Amino acid sequence: MTERVVVIGAGQAAIQCIETLRKKGFGGSIDLVGEEPHLPYQRPPLSKKYLAGELGRDRLTLRHQNYFDEQRIRLHLGRLAASIGRSSATVTLDDGQTLHYDALVLATGSLPRRLSLPGSDLAGVHYLKDIADADRLRSEIQPGRRAVIIGGGYIGLETAATLRHLGMEVTVLEMADRVMNRVVAEPVSRYFEAEHAGHGVQLLLRYNVTGLQGDASGRVCGVDTAAGRIEANLVIVGIGVIAHDTLARSAGLACENGILVDEYCRTSDPSIYAIGDCSNHPSQRYGRRVRLESVDNAFEQGATAALNILGQAQPHDRVPWFWSDQYHHKLLIIGLSQGHDRVVLRGHPKDNSFSCCYLKSDGELLAIDTVNQAKDQMAARKLIAVRAKLDADKAADISISLKDCLL
Ligand code: NAP
Repeated sequence: MTERVVVIGAGQAAIQCIETLRKKGFGGSIDLVGEEPHLPYQRPPLSKKYLAGELGRDRLTLRHQNYFDEQRIRLHLGRLAASIGRSSATVTLDDGQTLHYDALVLATGSLPRRLSLPGSDLAGVHYLKDIADADRLRSEIQPGRRAVIIGGGYIGLETAATLRHLGMEVTVLEMADRVMNRVVAEPVSRYFEAEHAGHGVQLLLRYNVTGLQGDASGRVCGVDTAAGRIEANLVIVGIGVIAHDTLARSAGLACENGILVDEYCRTSDPSIYAIGDCSNHPSQRYGRRVRLESVDNAFEQGATAALNILGQAQPHDRVPWFWSDQYHHKLLIIGLSQGHDRVVLRGHPKDNSFSCCYLKSDGELLAIDTVNQAKDQMAARKLIAVRAKLDADKAADISISLKDCLL
């Protein structure tokens, strides 16, 4: 009988989990442990409206204090979970407090990959993961200053758009030959590259950073690349994340690119669950394990873990989706494209609204990237879920609705 639930990590996945527990009638105790001092908050605006100063901190908050009071959720904010005692079913916090659990949920998220090059620790080198990072970066924003961003992924590009909007000079250095190269099709990369260039971002592809230069005060003043030095007043590093699984590893839970869970979000210890960015789950749909970094996955796994804690066995296997806002453009990616045989372009990038469909050789629609294309998004979500097969020639014709392209 589960009477005590402890949740470690206070992000979106954690909130979804505790909210589902209460909504489904769980009356036992819930302890929520969060390393940051803030009430649980949403991260997506950190690189966009929050960084731009257009959204206050209060608007980031996912649930206010009265929610936790009403729902009888004990908050342990600004506290680290130091260790898990699996034999005693306890968690010890960094202030020595011991929490007992019948079910433990790890929602520890991910950590930014650090740059390990000479000069990486200089003042003025930023990462963007939490409110403190965003506040530090914001305090350095001034029109005319030069920011060099390392990494042309979500963080790099969204931050570049925000900093340009605020009047900074921006250079983005990407190692690959196109931006967002692992997650979108080439036409989408090229479209966003052109948009950034049009907004005055200097985008340097196939650039390898070899080190950072500091001035006499120990502050970053340049970025060295194989092609020469680029001056910088500040540097932002967005080169991906790694699963935050340290606690799980030290507790002896099976981990490999995240905490290994089954389709019910259970780790190798059946009384411990892992959800969100830190977990690595088997996807029946894709026939392999995946670790997803998305709000949608955090939501779904949070709810799945809660239902399974309550004994309502429910496997997790959804079509994942991801989004990014850059300038006034909306990029939405539905499904995982790995394993596709061809990409079919629908519409034309010059019209500022198009999609790229990823098809297998038998026509199965595996995934889609859409740019300002709400109609395709809605249709594709359903088609991908049922593994629909499309006629590639029809799919290439934007005047034919996707749902009318079935083979
Ligand atoms: P990311 O999206 O994985 O992008 C990292 C980029 O940096 C990749 O293009 C990568 O190229 C490149 N890179 C890696 N090492 C590099 C180096 N030494 N020099 C230059 N480029 C390098 O990761 P991120 O942008 O850091 O974002 C971090 C996390 O925040 C992710 O979990 C992301 O999902 C989340 N986030 C999401 C959104 C959104 O969904 N809208 C917005 C912000 C943040 P390779 O691929 O070739 O390695």
